[in-house]
Amino acid sequence: MDGTVGSFQVAIVGSGPSGFYAAEALLRSTLPVHIDMFERLPTPFGLVRSGVAPDHQKLKQPIQVFERIARAPEFSFLGNITVGADITIDALKAAYHAVIFACGAQNDRRIGIPGEDLKGSHTATEFVGWYNGHPDYRDRIFDLKQDVVAIVGQGNVAADVCRILTRPVDELAISDIAEHALDALAESEIREVHIIGRRGPAQAKFTTKELRELTQLTGTIATIDAAELELSEICRVELASPSNVTAQKNMGLFKSLTGNVPQRGARRIHFRFLASPSALLGRDRVEQLSLVRNRLTGEAFAQIATPTQQFENIACGLVFRSIGYKGVPIPGMPFDASRGLLPNVNGRVTQGDTVLPGFYVTGWLKRGPSGIIGTNRADSIETVDAVLSDLMAEEPRAAPGLRALLPMIERRCPRVVHLSDWFDIDTAEVERGRIKGKPREKFTRISEMLAVLS
Ligand code: NAP
Repeated sequence: MDGTVGSFQVAIVGSGPSGFYAAEALLRSTLPVHIDMFERLPTPFGLVRSGVAPDHQKLKQPIQVFERIARAPEFSFLGNITVGADITIDALKAAYHAVIFACGAQNDRRIGIPGEDLKGSHTATEFVGWYNGHPDYRDRIFDLKQDVVAIVGQGNVAADVCRILTRPVDELAISDIAEHALDALAESEIREVHIIGRRGPAQAKFTTKELRELTQLTGTIATIDAAELELSEICRVELASPSNVTAQKNMGLFKSLTGNVPQRGARRIHFRFLASPSALLGRDRVEQLSLVRNRLTGEAFAQIATPTQQFENIACGLVFRSIGYKGVPIPGMPFDASRGLLPNVNGRVTQGDTVLPGFYVTGWLKRGPSGIIGTNRADSIETVDAVLSDLMAEEPRAAPGLRALLPMIERRCPRVVHLSDWFDIDTAEVERGRIKGKPREKFTRISEMLAVLS
């Protein structure tokens, strides 16, 4: 234990839900702990700020809990510092009794097909970051003058992308959507969105609430060809399972769409199943998405999409790939490239068969990109249990905490953003939003955020 301040010194890297839930679990423990939370951006809350869709304001409520945690006297927020670049892993290790990585899964998986990088082909991450005002994606350009869009993937991120593309802008205008995105969406000429699953309707990963929203959008009609809903015997077995309630409800919703007739002037969402992209085609930009028809093979609940020899092309000028995320390697730390995460056993970081003492991981970087915000709570409790039991088992040792890093931080980080600074940025954003009838108007450039503090 650190003799000078009498607390165990813990660093948390990343300020999204898993980081804050780890802080909460640490603060609830009986051990004296001081937490320094490092964040690359000047703003906290990770995907709750820059991933949750702007028209889902209720899902942002955990921010109130996170702010309560952040106000604890044993907690410090240190924004605008990049661990691995501004602060080395070795320096962190020497300064803290425990380091918990909670950096999420910031990269998209790639499909690996010809034409994937053609102009007009984007990852869902880019689009989500763009409409949410994330500084990394603020300057991306999406050609919304196209008639037809294809979204690859049938998870909740695909549902978010589809909804933001099709929801009337006056409904988005009262959300915290970034101004540049609202302006571009107001000029959108998109008429038709294909949302494409490589497996069948019984395997679509939408949660029912998110799927239902796509069927209830003003001025948009969702359709499915009835033939797409024919199920194999194995799919019927999957669907009949009492554990498969979401798929059963989704199937009911899908069936209700088969009679829908596209109306003149209405936008159209078209659900497609059992089709995988085989290529994106076009001379200078995406003009067509080539799909290969799949059949499902394997046992119930483990069926995979197996390509047939049947192909079809969809003419479309914009493609969003929404097939899941993966973590980004942290310089100086091991990385499981195939799974896109920090290798670990119950949150203890491993290298080969060896546990790396003092290093822990939680959230999407620990288990992969699954679950809702609340899923990270149990995940972080598990990791913090490992931290606490290791701290209790360890021979007491001194760890100086933040003060050992201050010379490095002063040299490399011109403006550290503390919690009070974040509250100033927050207040300014809320005020900018109030004028427009929005919950907030985010600053979308780091320079704008820092200008509030100068
Ligand atoms: P996801 O739920 O895992 O969905 C990924 C989709 O991509 C699946 O349909 C998957 O099909 C498909 N896919 C994967 N690889 C593919 C490939 N090579 N070719 C074609 N399709 C492929 O991931 P997500 O949508 O990114 O969401 C991540 C997590 O965040 C999920 O847990 C989600 O529920 C959560 N989330 C929640 C909300 C909310 O609560 N409102 C909003 C957004 C995200 P297979 O099933 O065949 O693998």
